[in-house]
Amino acid sequence: MHNNLRRLVWTSGAAAVVQAHAIRSVGQEAVGVLLGVRKATSAVCLRNTAAGPTDFRVERAEWQRTENYAKRLNVNVVALYHSHPTGDLALSQADKAAITLSTVPWVVIAKVKGQWQARAFAFGSGEPIQLQIESARQCNSAISRITTLALKLETGMKTQPMIERQHQRFDHE
Ligand SMILES: [Zn+2]
Repeated sequence: MHNNLRRLVWTSGAAAVVQAHAIRSVGQEAVGVLLGVRKATSAVCLRNTAAGPTDFRVERAEWQRTENYAKRLNVNVVALYHSHPTGDLALSQADKAAITLSTVPWVVIAKVKGQWQARAFAFGSGEPIQLQIESARQCNSAISRITTLALKLETGMKTQPMIERQHQRFDHE
């Protein structure tokens, strides 16, 4: 396997959007996608329509909108992310079954001992394999603007002031 496939790179801005989404998803898993070209430079929050608090489900139309949106931006869906409010970073049994159908790696985010942490997985032969996650600095404010725009356009979700502030902070790092 090529080295690039064993790791997942995300910018601090993309990571911040995912974390903010997980924080505000109370009683539910946060689910969304990471977009970019090779490395994840932005994140789009999706609607979780699962009934249970430890599951996620994204409607087909929402996937389609997200894929179309990525196409318009000339970026790829780099990974799917979801949070585990239970504080467990491991894939659940349901996750292990579902990731076999996924064409992109998965990122699981959870608060472990007071710290938000992430783990990435890809479907290998047999068991999912864990990927190394690397952080890259967000230095392109245009990409951040795309992230914020993505949140507004694609989810209908109100962009949280917190996220905007985080972007500004990362822009000027
Ligand atoms: Zn899960």
